Amino acid sequence: MSVTLQEYAKITGDAVIDQLVQLSKTLKGKKVVHVNSTRVGGGVAEILDKLVPLMNELGIETSWEVINGDAPFYQCTKGFHNALQGDTVEIPDTLLKVYESTNQENFKRLKPELKDADIVIIHDPQPAPFLSFCPGRKGKWVWRCHIDVSRPYRPVWKYLRNFVVGYDASIFSLDVFSQRLPHPQYLISPSIDPLSEKNIDLPQKEIVATCHEHKIDMNRPLITQVSRYDRFKDPIGVVHAFQLARKFVPDLQLVLAGGGATDDPEGEAVLNEVYAAAGDDKSIHVLLLPSDAHRTINALQRASDIVLQKSIKEGFGLTVTEAMWKGKPVIGGNVGGIRLQVHNHHNGFLVDTPEGAAMRIRYLYFNRDIMAEMGKNAHRFVLENFLITRHLREYLTLMVGLLHGNQSDRIELG
Ligand code: UDP
Repeated sequence: MSVTLQEYAKITGDAVIDQLVQLSKTLKGKKVVHVNSTRVGGGVAEILDKLVPLMNELGIETSWEVINGDAPFYQCTKGFHNALQGDTVEIPDTLLKVYESTNQENFKRLKPELKDADIVIIHDPQPAPFLSFCPGRKGKWVWRCHIDVSRPYRPVWKYLRNFVVGYDASIFSLDVFSQRLPHPQYLISPSIDPLSEKNIDLPQKEIVATCHEHKIDMNRPLITQVSRYDRFKDPIGVVHAFQLARKFVPDLQLVLAGGGATDDPEGEAVLNEVYAAAGDDKSIHVLLLPSDAHRTINALQRASDIVLQKSIKEGFGLTVTEAMWKGKPVIGGNVGGIRLQVHNHHNGFLVDTPEGAAMRIRYLYFNRDIMAEMGKNAHRFVLENFLITRHLREYLTLMVGLLHGNQSDRIELG
């Protein structure tokens, strides 16, 4: 389903769309290439899938390329991911060699496009070395980091930093993630697309049918966490929180909904840990969903009373934004990008432990009016801050700055 820019006006108002059109005028015909490591699964793919068509609609020739590798490559990059989020991970030289040679091979495949581009946006560490293979580049290169790098495992960051320093700029989601780098750093928070299958309003009968299909009882209270099966998302902590909360809310149900990203080799092991923690409890629904199950996730979020995202590290947490857009209070881990979105007693609660999460579930369950009020606040907060139109505006502004920043000719923005 391809949505045109004008269709967002009914949510944001016409002025927002007019501003995007004005901003894009000096970028018409420019070539922009995004590179990341997967087309499905995870927040980056979710965003690019919507952002790239809109940039094209604005006349910016935008493509989205994906770096491919084999199992050792993903083992290495998952190691980077874990180390950048603070785990002590020693990555053997053999894997680093695979990482570098995989980058070289992929760069060769994409070289004509990358050499010619006016702007290249490289997402996360997986394709970061591309720049080192492109000495005669024409365009500006930006490294876009989506993960929580506030306290990285230093040896791994030191290694990766060598690939990042040569970029013209980098983008982080939060100020606390910024690093000592010899180029400008920009803050851009991610966003959701309110008109996507994941977020669009659904007919009640579809929500009922989805719950029925997954044996969820709509007459009982429901809490949900949607996430890849990744330890940083703390699905086991969610199961513990549920088990504690159920002592006070006996008919409570839990849904853990997730799937695999093609670049995540640890998912299966984490899923097995979740099955073990859930045991044969019929009130816990552990769902393994295909990567295109956007409407199912939408329906599950809408069917929930409360949404959890009990991460212990989180770059941003689009699942939080998605739930808030649907008017749900979120109980989120007190970390990274979740802190940008969830504000205690306003639109949800930040928690540090399963016990804390259980206490907040209980509080909301017994204070239904407050729960409803928080849900309204959550929706409004996303409307004002985290929609794709704001995201697009910030990308356009950055691109105008990168391409025209040093020129004396005036750029008409309004
Ligand atoms: N998601 C999905 N299917 C799943 C699990 C997650 O479609 O089984 C989506 C989820 O709805 C969200 C994105 O993947 O849009 C996850 O983004 P987030 O920023 O929350 O976490 P990440 O996976 O990027 O760490």
